[in-house]
Amino acid sequence: MPVPVSQMWAVAKYVITQKLKGRKRYPLVMQLEPLFRCNLACAGCGKIQYPAHILKRQLTPEQCWKAAEECGTPVVAIPGGEPMLHPQISQIVQGLIDRKRYVYVCTNALLLKEKIEAGWFKPNERLTFSVHMDGQEEHHDFAVCREGTYKTAVEAIKFAVDRGFRVTTNTTLFEGADPNSVRAFMDEMMALGVEGCMLSPGYAYPKAPDQKSFMTERKKVTDFFRMVLSNRKPHWQFNASPLFMEYLMGKRDYECTPWGLPTYCIFGWQKPCYLLQDGYVDTFKELMETTEWERYGRKSGNTACQQCMVHCGYEPTAVDHTFSSLSGFLATAKATLFSSYKDPEAERMLAQEATKPHGPLVQLGISATPKSASAKSERAASTVGAA
Ligand code: SF4
Ligand code: SF4
Repeated sequence: MPVPVSQMWAVAKYVITQKLKGRKRYPLVMQLEPLFRCNLACAGCGKIQYPAHILKRQLTPEQCWKAAEECGTPVVAIPGGEPMLHPQISQIVQGLIDRKRYVYVCTNALLLKEKIEAGWFKPNERLTFSVHMDGQEEHHDFAVCREGTYKTAVEAIKFAVDRGFRVTTNTTLFEGADPNSVRAFMDEMMALGVEGCMLSPGYAYPKAPDQKSFMTERKKVTDFFRMVLSNRKPHWQFNASPLFMEYLMGKRDYECTPWGLPTYCIFGWQKPCYLLQDGYVDTFKELMETTEWERYGRKSGNTACQQCMVHCGYEPTAVDHTFSSLSGFLATAKATLFSSYKDPEAERMLAQEATKPHGPLVQLGISATPKSASAKSERAASTVGAA
């Protein structure tokens, strides 16, 4: 069972209550960013680009708890930056657990083992570490621009799982990703004992320095996820709504629900979503009441939204669909019970992908048939080091 029944019930009860209250717009998961600084410098990151005086700032535990109470969602995800760099992160997490929240600490895991050993966290059904893993070793280390990161994260995952912590992974996939490698990555994560994996295409943050690495064509994205998520192995577990995964595979067409994952950070509540920054307000009420929601999503024509398929905008749509109608509920039940998605065409596409060059060197634009393999490695290493 990927997610405890108590959590599934808490989320289902919450969503049904919102429906019964007639709330057209309600948040599903709160994203809490207590700081932006990080101990990595990933090329695709839109958070660490702030100036030093901003990176030094952080939310207090009281600010975090107040925001969670205002928002009211049963689940709080804590990305960043790197939450483990917040000196009071254990206090923040405990306070949220005391307030009956299910907490996902999104971490690159470089400090996870150390913090567990230091007694910062105790296993709890309400606490999950969501480890940032961008694929198999060479892909992950390339994406986070530091060699050895995958090994450290794997060691931390094993350590946490062995001590009874809930662990999931979150993976952002970029242009040039290898679908066969992502499938092998799923096997690797399942072997480590993680509860489930979340896969999502990256979004071209305006602040991200490397704009070329993002998947930007919807058809390419859906073809990619069709290859990865069809013909699933029975032991694979996902930490995502089954209907959201069908959306990624191109089987459904959804519109974004930008209020579904509201974000609170050192600047306040971010308008309108985790990705765009169209201003900040002090209270959750103001966020809901003053944001011009009709300006966002594909139908609005907003250029920033046209290629976006990320989970923060579309997973709440999928969950809302599950609880909005009998057909949505039945579709979810079907997707859960019959999740193999047999697809011979996807198999054929995968076999074709296996003949193409993939991986960091291709992403760097280096020839797949170089005269000198060591020259390739040197160039890759220096580029990674400079990123
Ligand atoms: S680990 Fe996350 S927060 Fe840190 S640099 Fe990478 S993407 Fe940004
Ligand atoms: S489509 Fe994407 S970028 Fe646009 S509002 Fe939704 S989540 Fe944000």
